[in-house]
Amino acid sequence: MTVRPSKIIGVGRNYAAHAAELGNEVPTSPIIFLKPPSSLLADGAPIVLPSESQRVEFEGEIGIVIGARARRVSERDAAHVVRGVVAFNDVTARDLQKADGQWARAKGFDTFGPMGAEQAYVGDWGALSVVTRVNGVERQRARADLMVFSIPRLVAFISSVMTLEPGDVIATGTPSGTAALSPGDVVEVTIEGTDGRALSRVGNPVAAPE
Ligand code: ZN
Repeated sequence: MTVRPSKIIGVGRNYAAHAAELGNEVPTSPIIFLKPPSSLLADGAPIVLPSESQRVEFEGEIGIVIGARARRVSERDAAHVVRGVVAFNDVTARDLQKADGQWARAKGFDTFGPMGAEQAYVGDWGALSVVTRVNGVERQRARADLMVFSIPRLVAFISSVMTLEPGDVIATGTPSGTAALSPGDVVEVTIEGTDGRALSRVGNPVAAPE
């Protein structure tokens, strides 16, 4: 199923090892940002490296899909407003992220939001894993229970700020292992359940600036 979110909410530094590899502290409350729906990219379509950046990195993430309008839901009720998962690649221009001091440009280029098909999921959120492969080589793998802020905690926190609508996507943060992409690479993000079965995947070639 193809999701059409009214908004995509990203979460920064939600795995301690990733915060450390970028030289950042682990946050004491979630750091959230918006990624424009215009950045969304389908499976198989090319990620286009913009000429404005010298360093574009992949960020494999567990995307969760909201199933019911949610405003100030509790952590306990969060499971009732989530309907599924998507593989998500929060492609980031790392140099522009550092230079700008805020993240709208670095995260917002067209093609910077590869997203897989939605898979209904209402199981154990901590048991999900995200796996990223570049040219077939595994570069990231982490279980969701390594997150600094759990998926229910993120839903509660974000819904205390903005109303979440059905179809909205939360990209829950990337684990360690992010690295730069080059033209000709193929990057694939997979969400796995406990049995190792792929719940959602998205794979994209990387193209030079147009
Ligand atoms: Zn991210």
